[in-house]
Amino acid sequence: MDVTKIFGSNVFNDEVMQNRLPKDTYKALKKTLVSGEPLAPEVADVVANAMKDWAIEKGATHYTHWFQPLTGSTAEKHDSFISPTMNGGVVMEFSGKQLIQGEPDASSFPSGGLRATFEARGYTAWDCTSPAFLKEDAAGNVTLCIPTAFCSYNGEALDKKTPLLRSMDVVSRQAMRVLRALGNSTAKRVYATVGPEQEYFLVDKKLYAERLDLICTGRTLFGAPAPKGQEMEDHYFGQIKDRISEFMKSLDIELWKMGITSKTKHNEVAPSQFEMAPIFATTNIAADHNQLVMETMQKVALRHGLACLLHEKPYAGVNGSGKHNNWSLSTDDGQNLLEPGSTPHENEQFLMFLCALITAVDRHAELLRATAACSGNDHRLGANEAPPAIVSIFMGTELTEVLESVASGRKRKGKGSSFVKVGVDTLPPLPRDNSDRNRTSPFAFTGNKFEFRMVASSASVSGPNVVLNTIAAEALDVIATRLEKAKDIHREATAIVREAMHKHGRIIFNGNNYSPDWVREAAKRGLPNISSTADALEAIASPQTIRLFGSYKVLSPKEVRSRHEIYVEQYCKQINIEARTALDMVRTLYLPAVVGYVSDLAASVCVVQDAGGSAAVQKDLLEKATGLLESAYAKTDRLDRAAHKARTITALRRQAVFYRDEVMVAMKDLRADIDALELLLPRSQWPVPTYADMLFKL
Ligand code: ADP
Ligand code: MG
Repeated sequence: MDVTKIFGSNVFNDEVMQNRLPKDTYKALKKTLVSGEPLAPEVADVVANAMKDWAIEKGATHYTHWFQPLTGSTAEKHDSFISPTMNGGVVMEFSGKQLIQGEPDASSFPSGGLRATFEARGYTAWDCTSPAFLKEDAAGNVTLCIPTAFCSYNGEALDKKTPLLRSMDVVSRQAMRVLRALGNSTAKRVYATVGPEQEYFLVDKKLYAERLDLICTGRTLFGAPAPKGQEMEDHYFGQIKDRISEFMKSLDIELWKMGITSKTKHNEVAPSQFEMAPIFATTNIAADHNQLVMETMQKVALRHGLACLLHEKPYAGVNGSGKHNNWSLSTDDGQNLLEPGSTPHENEQFLMFLCALITAVDRHAELLRATAACSGNDHRLGANEAPPAIVSIFMGTELTEVLESVASGRKRKGKGSSFVKVGVDTLPPLPRDNSDRNRTSPFAFTGNKFEFRMVASSASVSGPNVVLNTIAAEALDVIATRLEKAKDIHREATAIVREAMHKHGRIIFNGNNYSPDWVREAAKRGLPNISSTADALEAIASPQTIRLFGSYKVLSPKEVRSRHEIYVEQYCKQINIEARTALDMVRTLYLPAVVGYVSDLAASVCVVQDAGGSAAVQKDLLEKATGLLESAYAKTDRLDRAAHKARTITALRRQAVFYRDEVMVAMKDLRADIDALELLLPRSQWPVPTYADMLFKL
C-alpha cells in the first residue's frame, strides 16, 4: 500500500487544481482564497467544469452541496450531472452557478424561528477554503461533495460552518493587530488551528441490532454491570485485536483518500473503546474533517460487522467518550503563537497570547462550558472520569510561576530562578513533558497549544471553536488597543500580564481536578460549576454572549437566540426519545421475560411441593422476582406519566428542567429494578445482550 498515492486521491486539492485549471483561473481562485472575496462567475464556470471532469473520471455521477445544519450532523442532497440534449440523450454538466450556490429546501432543518414556513428555501454557498472531495459508498456510488455554508433567505446562519468562518476572520484580525503592535511584520494572516482527538466504541453489529436503546438513543438505557469493568487497566494502549485492526485499516484508507490526516489510533480506557487523532488543520477544515471522520467510522464499522458508537456514555460504569479539541493560533508564515520562543521578543509575544487566553477563558467560562453541553455529556462531565463541569486552565507549575513572577515583580520560587522581565529576558526553559501530565484538567496548556477536553464525542467541533476563536479575539482586541497606544511596549506588556493574572489568575489550577477539594476551592474562587445541560445552555443566550457575538458580528442576537432555542429543544427531544425507548423496552421485552420467569417459578413450586419437596429456593426467588416486577411495573407508569407531562410543557426552559429533574430521574429509578432483575433471571431468558456480551465479545 503506497499511502502517499492514496492520500488525497479523492480531493480536488491544490495540486489537482494546478494541473487542471488554466493558469489565470488558478491564480484568480487562489486570490479569492486569500482575500475571501466572492469568486467571479466566469472563474466559477471554469472551476466547476474542471471539477466535474475530474470527478467523472473518478466515477462520479452526482454532486452535492455538503453542509452542516444545526442538528450537529451533515446533510447532502444528491443531484446527478445529467442535463437533457435536444435529441433525447443527456450530457454531463455542472455550472459555476451550481458550484457556488445551492437552494435546498430548508424546511426540515432546525432554524429556531429564523425561517418562516412560507420561506422554506435555504441557501448553500461554497466554502472554497475547504476543498471539494469525492465520497464513495459501498454500493459503488461516487459523489462530488462541495463543502458549503447554509443560511436562510435573509442571510441568517442556519448551520455550524458560517459562524466558524466568521470567527476565524475575527480572531485573525485581532491577533494580527497584536502582532503588528509588537513589531512582528512577517505575518499576513493568523489561522486558528485544531486537532480533534475522537474517541468511540465498537460493538458487534448483531448485538447492536438487538438493543433498541443503542439504536434509538446511542446509549444503553439498561444493563447490569459486567463482572469485569476497566479496573484491570488492561485495555488502554493495549494490543489491538485483529478484527479491530482490520476496521482501523479500512478506516485509515477511507480517510486518507479524502485527504484526512488520520495519524494516531489506539485502544482507549474502557473495554471496546478506541481513539483516532488526525494531524491538526485550520479550524474549518478540521471541523469538516471531523464530521467526515465520525460519518466514515460508522460506515466502515458496518462493513466489518460492527457498529460504531459515538455517544458520550454508551455504557454506565465504564469511561465515556469525549473529543479533545487541541487548539492554537498559527501565522501564515508558520509561527505557532502559543509556542514559547527562545528570544525575549518571541516570549513577549507568547505571553500576550497566553494572557489573552487566560482572560478569555475566565471571562467566558460559562459559555465555554455550554459548548460541551448535551444530554450525553451530562453522564460524563464531573463523573470522575472526564473533566469536571468546572472550567479551569492547567498551565503547569513552571509557567504559572513565570506568570506569577511577572505579575508580582518578584523572583520566581526555588531552583535559583530569576526574575523575568517581559520583552527583555528569555523565559526559563519550560519542559514540555511536564506540562502534559495533568489529564484531569478541562482546559490544559500542553506546551504549544490548549487542549479543551470537555467537548462531547458526538458533537461537531464547530461550536467550541466558534467560542474559542471569538473569546480569544475579544481579549486580543483589548490587548492590541493597549499595545498600540503604549509609549513603552515592554512596560505595557508587563502591565497586561499583571492585570490578566490579578483579574483572571483564579482560572489557573494545576492540581487534581477530580478531587472534591477542587470543587470547594473553585467555589471559593467564584468559578462556575454547572453540572447539567439544562442549566449550562443558558449561557448561550446570556446578555454577555449576545454582546460578545454581536460586537464581532459572529452571530447576530437573533442567530444566537435561535441557536439557544434549538439546543434546548434538542436536549428535550433526546430525553423524550430515551424515555419512550425505555418504556418500549420494559413493556415489550423486560416485563414479559420476567412474567415468564415468574410463571416458571410458580409452576416449579407447585410441582416440587406436590412431590413432597419444600421448594424453598423457588419460593424465595419467586418472592424476589415478583417484588422487583411489581416495583418496575409501578415505575414504568411513573415514567410514562412524567414523559407525558413533560411533552405538554410549553416554556422551553421549564421543559428542559422537568426532563432533567423528573423524567431522567424516573428513568434511572426504573433502570435500577430492571438491572436487578437481569442479575436474577437465567441468562437464556434475558431478552437482550448483556454488558459482558457487548463490551467483551469483540
Ligand atoms: P496527546 O495530546 O495525546 O499527547 P499530541 O500532543 O501529539 O497528542 O497531539 C494531539 C492532537 O493535537 C493531534 O491531533 C495534533 O495534531 C494536535 N495538535 C498538535 N499541535 C497543534 C496545534 N498547533 N494546533 C492544533 N492542534 C495541534
Ligand atoms: Mg490529547
